[in-house]
Amino acid sequence: VGKVYLVGAGPGDPELLTVKALRILGQAKVVLHDSLVSREVLAEASPQAEMVDVGKRCGTKLLSQEDINALLVAYASNHDIVVRLKGGDPLIFGRAAEEITALRDAGVPFEIVPGITAVLSAAAAAGISLSDRRVASQILITTLSHGPESCGREWDAINSATTVAIYMPGRDYGALATKLLDKGLSGDTPCAIVSHASSAGQEIRWTRIADLYEDARLPAPAILIVGKVAAQRAEDFPPDLLFRGFRSGEALQPQVSVWGKN
Ligand code: SAH
Repeated sequence: VGKVYLVGAGPGDPELLTVKALRILGQAKVVLHDSLVSREVLAEASPQAEMVDVGKRCGTKLLSQEDINALLVAYASNHDIVVRLKGGDPLIFGRAAEEITALRDAGVPFEIVPGITAVLSAAAAAGISLSDRRVASQILITTLSHGPESCGREWDAINSATTVAIYMPGRDYGALATKLLDKGLSGDTPCAIVSHASSAGQEIRWTRIADLYEDARLPAPAILIVGKVAAQRAEDFPPDLLFRGFRSGEALQPQVSVWGKN
């Protein structure tokens, strides 16, 4: 029986892979990856490895989660190194729990290799200190998509000292804004929307909750960082820039060349 590695592919930039992920990818006999994983990261896999795309595209699942679980177990029966490669970190909105259960039930040895999750990459791109002690005391990683265990109270922990990282923001940022306002946050609370963090298409938009209704959404994958910490960067600019919303590539050219990718 082979071993299955649940490996975090990071946000896109192959330089953000861990050394361990890179080594295991180089030794893999088969790589089952999501569609979110960048081409540059896939290129780090051993040229001999069989590459299997098990991802979703435009909401259409290529394979069900049960199919993927079964594939992992099947590949491990005749390959010594099986890599299950997931965008970001495998343990954050990555369905790793279901795969771990399947591997345990089948008696397949496995190891988890963490990766840089989207919010960390987005915060780095935007220069946001997520836990800035002057304004924040907690970080909530969350999403609007409700799982079967949802009780509708997931966001109860939010207060004015919370940094909220919203994964899978979907098409309607207005629904997010309504839910954040319902939780008592002010409409002036700053937000940073980061699309394609760490990749060539990286875009950052600074806005505030009240403007989420009107702001055009950025292309997926995008993440929202909401909270006072998101004001730190924008504070450097005249107040009329603060809430208007602008694209980082236009207004912040000098900084972008420092933080962004060439
Ligand atoms: N396991 C992944 C998350 C998978 S859920 C991780 O740890 O990052 C998919 C969501 O992650 C996307 O809808 C988006 O909100 C976020 N995401 C993933 N990669 C991203 C990137 N490069 N830039 C911005 N958001 C990203």
